[in-house]
Amino acid sequence: MAITNIFADTLSSLGHAVKPSPLKDMQLAFFNQTLASDIGLMPSIGSKDKLLPWLLSPTTPFTKKAFAQKYGGHQFGQWNPELGDGRGVLLCEVADEKGAVTDLHLKGAGPTPYSRHADGRAVLRSTLREYIGSEALHHLGIPSSRSLAMFTSNDTVYREQAEDGAMMIRTAPSHIRFGHIEYFHYTQQKDKLDALFDFIFTHHFSECLTATNPHAALLKAIVLRTARLVSLWQTYGFVHGVMNTDNMSIHGLTFDYGPYAFMDTYQEDAVFNHSDYSGRYAFNQQPGIALWNLNALAHGFSTYCSVEEIKGALTLFEPTFIAHYQGLMVERMGLPTNDEGVALMQEFISIINSEQQDYTRIFRRLALAQHDLLPTNLRDDFVDRSRFDRWYQRYLKCVSPQDMLSLNPSLVPRTHVLEEAIANARQGNLDFAQALLDAVKTPFSTSWDDHAFSTPPTSTHKVSLSCSS
Ligand code: AMP
Ligand code: MG
Repeated sequence: MAITNIFADTLSSLGHAVKPSPLKDMQLAFFNQTLASDIGLMPSIGSKDKLLPWLLSPTTPFTKKAFAQKYGGHQFGQWNPELGDGRGVLLCEVADEKGAVTDLHLKGAGPTPYSRHADGRAVLRSTLREYIGSEALHHLGIPSSRSLAMFTSNDTVYREQAEDGAMMIRTAPSHIRFGHIEYFHYTQQKDKLDALFDFIFTHHFSECLTATNPHAALLKAIVLRTARLVSLWQTYGFVHGVMNTDNMSIHGLTFDYGPYAFMDTYQEDAVFNHSDYSGRYAFNQQPGIALWNLNALAHGFSTYCSVEEIKGALTLFEPTFIAHYQGLMVERMGLPTNDEGVALMQEFISIINSEQQDYTRIFRRLALAQHDLLPTNLRDDFVDRSRFDRWYQRYLKCVSPQDMLSLNPSLVPRTHVLEEAIANARQGNLDFAQALLDAVKTPFSTSWDDHAFSTPPTSTHKVSLSCSS
């Protein structure tokens, strides 16, 4: 049997067994057949029609050992030990043919011991945003949790207003967050921390076991993965919105989607989370915050590693981030990875910043122009044409012919387009959401170049996203 409960069985003291509690009239809205096959789920469950019945009964392979994980986290810089799966449960793990293990986690599953008087639910709005957003990032080449299935319901969930309840099953290699390690370290539960690390080494980072100090190797691996992840966010203009350490995956993938957004107009200090008053998680703060979070995580390694080993791992962040970010940015512009390439890239950012250009669109148009696919003159996109001309002359001397379309997406899930999908879904119509979901799977296709999904919002559209999801 490819379905297991290894976390719940071997780490039963690191959380609580909790059965998911169904919503009224649940319906399967989306199912990711390709992902189900890739992770080895399809032969195990037989057909997608089993999915909902398997959630509704307490004794099925999905529910019999469902488990709410305990963790803590630094939220907006403050340590909070009171966290955990408050509205989600780990259903089980699935193994593929090669033995690679994937978690199935049900979000919006009802109250758990970590719900802190909240309802344990998720609303249609945020569930749809996460469902589409995580698939979009994956297909852009940005590591992310994935979306396996989404369920709608006729249940009402109360937030700032009455909303429809929904659930989704998401997948990730594991749901272990920085906050898991932090919690068992800060509460001085050394035996549980040992068991957690054993689990991580055995099932996810076995390559670290051959190192002189496996814990130091693990910390280094997490630092490198996180640096690469954030370099991709910065490259494509993604703002996570709530980079608390309980929302950071040890696997270095995008995790716990909340008030995230892709920037429309370029703004280096863009903030979309309306609860982020100080701009702690602004676009240009993300690399520094990732390092801050890694520093918080590193405390959890302090009984296993020397100060030198910890410093050695953390100091890898900045050069790794810069090398990856600059490498990705010059590559998407067809430029060489040298000083001139980097200078041209930085000048382009400066131009689009002062011109308030749409970030995704202008890079796509630069790429289309190099492929002779732009029907208009690129310089017409700019107000300060003499500045653009000066830059473009230098650029044309440096750019080398290569495939730029596959590095500059035509389509990212723009907030105003997601809002249209949500508005339709609230009326019971999922066709728009389905079309957007299909579209985000081919973000580099020319099909979207003149499509409404890729059109920037009108200038009056102010994006401010609620954290209450
Ligand atoms: P989030 O803001 O979704 O990252 O959640 C932060 C913490 O609050 C986690 O421990 C969540 O499980 C918990 N939480 C968020 N929303 C709810 C809810 N509606 N019911 C119970 N717990 C929640
Ligand atoms: Mg979270």
